Amino acid sequence: MEERYCQSCGMPMGQTDELYGTEADGTKNHDYCKYCYENGTFTANCTMEEMIDFCVQPLLENMPGMTEAGAREMMNEHFPLLKRWQA
Ligand SMILES: [Zn+2]
Repeated sequence: MEERYCQSCGMPMGQTDELYGTEADGTKNHDYCKYCYENGTFTANCTMEEMIDFCVQPLLENMPGMTEAGAREMMNEHFPLLKRWQA
């Protein structure tokens, strides 16, 4: 089974339902994580740039040795490929 990534923030969501977002009727949304998508709506109505700002810190904590510039560069390449940010 392939690894799923949140199509909003790029977070790996693993193989369990735990981290998936929820629809208004309580079912899971398999495109977005619970931090981005809850009860059928995005938790933050932000731009891609704002999402990148928001994700820099947690990403740095998860990737020892990564610099802020490196993290931003990685997200700037990856985020436009995510479903939420495609026009
Ligand atoms: Zn997310």
